[in-house]
Amino acid sequence: MPRKSKIPCGDGQVVQYNTIKARLYPTEVQAELFENTFGCCRYIWNHMLADQQRFYLETDKHFIPTPAKYKKEAPFLKEVDNQALIQEHNKLSQAFRVFFKDPSHFGYPNFKRKKTDRDSFTACNHVFESGPTIYITKDGIRMTKAGIVRAKFPRRPRNGWKLRRITVEKTRSGKYYCYILYECCVKAPETVIPMAETTLGLKYSMPHFYVADNGAMADAPHWLKQSQEKLAKVQRQLNRMQPGSQNYQEAVQKYRELHEHIANQRRDFIHKESRRIANAWDAVCVRGDSMSEISQLVKRGNALEAGFGTFRECLRYKLARQGKPLIVVDRYTPTTRTCAVCGLVRDDEVSYRHRSWRCPKCGTVHNREVNAAKNVKAQGLDQYFGYQEWRESA
Ligand SMILES: [Zn+2]
Repeated sequence: MPRKSKIPCGDGQVVQYNTIKARLYPTEVQAELFENTFGCCRYIWNHMLADQQRFYLETDKHFIPTPAKYKKEAPFLKEVDNQALIQEHNKLSQAFRVFFKDPSHFGYPNFKRKKTDRDSFTACNHVFESGPTIYITKDGIRMTKAGIVRAKFPRRPRNGWKLRRITVEKTRSGKYYCYILYECCVKAPETVIPMAETTLGLKYSMPHFYVADNGAMADAPHWLKQSQEKLAKVQRQLNRMQPGSQNYQEAVQKYRELHEHIANQRRDFIHKESRRIANAWDAVCVRGDSMSEISQLVKRGNALEAGFGTFRECLRYKLARQGKPLIVVDRYTPTTRTCAVCGLVRDDEVSYRHRSWRCPKCGTVHNREVNAAKNVKAQGLDQYFGYQEWRESA
């Protein structure tokens, strides 16, 4: 959904969004209200979706009723924040919009199940004359219905940040978090024109996370591997236990906490790594590989397999904030099969089992992945400057 800006930014300024994630410590009453809100959001989503399907079959028209329609038959909906229900309507409308636009990429909206879908709700902030509906205090956050919920903030918003909306989430291990979205105006960055020396080519790599054209690699930090091994150990213990027993329950909890811990470690690694690259280089070239296809190829157990798509997105916005481009090369570019020195394109794919290969034409011995990263960079720069010329001559 296009996020309409409510704050008019000055000349030469652009809107920037920032999110602060905070741990929440709700009281028992507040936790119960959260549980009810999660449930009501699922309820309203599923009912709106079912009605949409029915209308579509009967009239051939796309229409989603608003949450107000359901309140008579389900009075418990009135007990939770109405904003959260309205957001479900927005989210469902958005899910259909992207589905109609590109059905091959975005799936048809699904019904939500308590077992598999994450517990969360979102509410927008409304600023009335009497004050905003959502705001943060020294050690808490004020929400509609719940009142002030105790919270621990890793950082505070800067001056001029406007609180737009909040998403409350409960993890599988039972912890509550909120994501607070802020909007602000910042000076538009000046466009940086990259040069070959200041551009980095990256290739997704299964064993190393990525390999760069200059030979640099990012291996998963050892602590991530350690957690991964611990997780495998708990998994093995679980397999030997009697489901339903006290020990089993405790092990399940341990497993979930470890799982979340790994997700946090992974996110931390991805943010730091993308920050480092975005600061050090003027442009980054990557191939537009489909991450879901890659993860199907990759065996389970690689802690970072799912992270590369996120990494790419982090790079994109961290570069963009400095006026630098992320250049995405077509995913069908034969980067692995091409010799970066003489340009020979092999007929066959170089198997990922081979670390290196010798070019039959020029005789260069290539590291398979570094060679591919070099090609990603060359192709990216061609693409970028070709487009620039075209834009200047148009
Ligand atoms: Zn060659």
